[in-house]
Parts: sequence; C-alpha cells; structure tokens
Amino acid sequence: MNALVFSTTLLMTLELPFLRLHYIFGSLCDVIHARMRFRLKVVFLILLLLFSTVFMYILGEWMAHYVILSQCDWPQLDPKSEDLAVPKANHTPLRVMLLTDTHLFGPCEGFWLERVRTDWQMYIAFKTAIHLHRPEIVFVLGDLTNEGQYSSDDYFNTTYVKRFYNVFAVPKDIQMFVLVGNHDVGFHYSISKHLLSRFNKDFSTKDVQFVNIGGNYFVMVNSIGLEGDDCFLCTEVDQQLEKIEKLLNCTKGDTSSNCTTKLSSYSRPILLTHFPLFRDSDRKCNEPDEAPYATKIEPFKEAWDCLSKNATDRILHQINPRLVINGHSHHGCTNRLSNGGGLEITLPSFNWAHKDNPSYGLVVVTPNNYAFSKCLMPRQSTSIIRYLFATICIIGGIYYRYYGKRRNRRKYSMLA
Ligand SMILES: [Zn+2]
Repeated sequence: MNALVFSTTLLMTLELPFLRLHYIFGSLCDVIHARMRFRLKVVFLILLLLFSTVFMYILGEWMAHYVILSQCDWPQLDPKSEDLAVPKANHTPLRVMLLTDTHLFGPCEGFWLERVRTDWQMYIAFKTAIHLHRPEIVFVLGDLTNEGQYSSDDYFNTTYVKRFYNVFAVPKDIQMFVLVGNHDVGFHYSISKHLLSRFNKDFSTKDVQFVNIGGNYFVMVNSIGLEGDDCFLCTEVDQQLEKIEKLLNCTKGDTSSNCTTKLSSYSRPILLTHFPLFRDSDRKCNEPDEAPYATKIEPFKEAWDCLSKNATDRILHQINPRLVINGHSHHGCTNRLSNGGGLEITLPSFNWAHKDNPSYGLVVVTPNNYAFSKCLMPRQSTSIIRYLFATICIIGGIYYRYYGKRRNRRKYSMLA
C-alpha cells in the first residue's frame, strides 16, 4: 500500500511539466476536435508511464546498490594470523579492492541495449563501491572485455578502452592495475604478439608485474603464459618469474643465489592471476556465490578452466604466496593452498550477464598479515522482481489518479 501511495505521489510530482503541456494541448484540442484530445491523452499517459518507469529504474538501482553494498565493510586483521617469520613493525594496513571478469560486451555478441544496460549496472556498482570503501588500490583480474580477441584495432584502441575507463573510473588518489584474460587476447593456442602488445599498451600493464606497495608484494601473472612450453609468451613469463623468485630468495637470506639486488624486507607475496590454480572442479567450493550444483560437479579442463597441475606446482614453489586471488570461472570459490598455509580465492564475474549474484573482494594487508571479505552485490533476479513490482505500482498509481478519482467523482455526483 505504501508503494502505491509513493507511486501516486511520485506521479503527481512528475506529471506537473506534463500537465502544462497537456493543458496547452488540451485547450487547442477543444477547438480542433474531441477525438484528437483523447488521442493526446493516451500519448500523454504512455509518456508518463515510460518516464516514471525509467525514473524508478534509475532510482531503484542506485538505492539497491547503496543499501546492499553499505552492509559490506573492510575486514579486521586478526593478530592470531600474523606471519611470525616477518619481523613485527608498525605497518599501515593497505586497503585493496579486487574484481574480475567484467566482460564488457562488444559489437558482435549481445544486443546494443544489453551492452548499455550491463555497462550502466557495472558503472553504478563500481562507483558505489568506490564511494563507500575508498580503497587505495584496485585490481581487475582479467577478461575486461568479452570480445577483445576478435576486435579490430580501431574498436579495441578507442571504444573498448574508453568504455572500460568510463565504467571503471577511479579518482586520482586510487591506483588501478589490470591483468589480461583469455577473452582479451585469446587462449594459449591462439595467442599473438600483436594482441598481447595491444592490450599491454592500451591498459598500461605487463605479462608479469611485481608491485611493491609499502612492503606488500603483489605478483601479477598472465595465466596464458604459464603453459611451460617454449612459446614466446611462456619463455618471457618464465624468465620474469625466475627473476622474482631470485629477488624474493635473496631478500629472505638465501645465499646460494648470486644476489645482486634485494628488497628492504621479506614478506610472502600475494599472487594474482586470471585462471584459478589447478583443481578437479568446483565441487568442494562452499560459498554464497558458488556455481550452481550442475556446474560445480563439471570436471575442470587443465589450461582451459584452470592452470595445469604442473604450472600450479611450479608457481607455488617459485613465489610461495600467502594468498592467491583469481577469476575466470565466473563463480566464487575458496580453497586452502597446498604450499603450507594461505588461501586461494576465486572471485565471480562482476557482470550480471554472467552471474546472478556477483561480488567483489576487499583485502586489508600488511607485510605480516591479511584479512579478506567478500561483498555480495544485488541479485539480478531480485532486481527484476523489484522492477516488476514498481511497474505494477506505477500502473496502479496512474489508474487510481485518472480513473479511480473520476469514478469517485461520478459516485459522489450521483449521491448529490
Ligand atoms: Zn577467462
């Protein structure tokens, strides 16, 4: 009932400019013809309905995101989970936000309206999240685009890049790092130097990046280059990872390596990839945003749905991460790492076209500790129910405003 009253009040507010037009047109119609007046009234009602629905949609989307995302906050560091091997110091916790698989639609797949709608939904979600959480760093873990690998240079360099930075705009005081995904440049079998360098140049990234922020080390790796064969990308990725392994070992105090450079202090890094580490399937995942059961039990294909077993063992041995975060599967999953402590967290797609209940991650990190929390975003199915309800209320409000009142007037005039 409250919704009906709200809709009626909203309609009365919105209809003022329309009413002026209506009265102007109405007086003209008196002169011209009564039938014309009736037609104008129908057009006016349709316009009012459309305008109210769009207004309710925009308002509802902003409010739903704000209300739901404001319930998610930065996690608290637990002193019990501190890494005792790292010397204690007064570290300022770093606040990191992570999301993945934004899959911006391109010109081939999806109707243009779907493109506009999903861009707009992600824009609202991301903007609200940035406003509420104010992270210091944002990582986007690959598959930024849905059709990057098939896009022409012209479309990719201009439209795709521009759209991404419009939808995921960050204030100047927030740093953003992006990783490449298979949808951006293709899988290993079809990788090309041109597509890779185009992505790296346009998004200012590299196939392997070592990011040091206040003694917190992040290793970002292009998963497609972890096949371990002698492809140009795999060779490059292997060489870069060996350098990082040596740097970390030297910092840790390993004298067997021929050390030339080292970091100021050792801390186990956080590994960021697009592909999850090797696992048989999502069967063991137990998350609110996990895959539906039928998808969970589907076996994973190595180097397609996740990294190969060899690549996983090799990178865990080289980097020895305390936390691994990735995406690609479009569903949430958390597993224990097999390298002696730590977690692997797979985030779901940020795009409602690929996930009914998307989410993003918030990590508070210091060199000797970290805490993770997942922020669940509004469900697509709930939004659809909300808009259906709002549309019914608007139609009910219009009916009550124009026909309910007229019926009441007729009733009272008959009684008089
Ligand atoms: Zn992917």
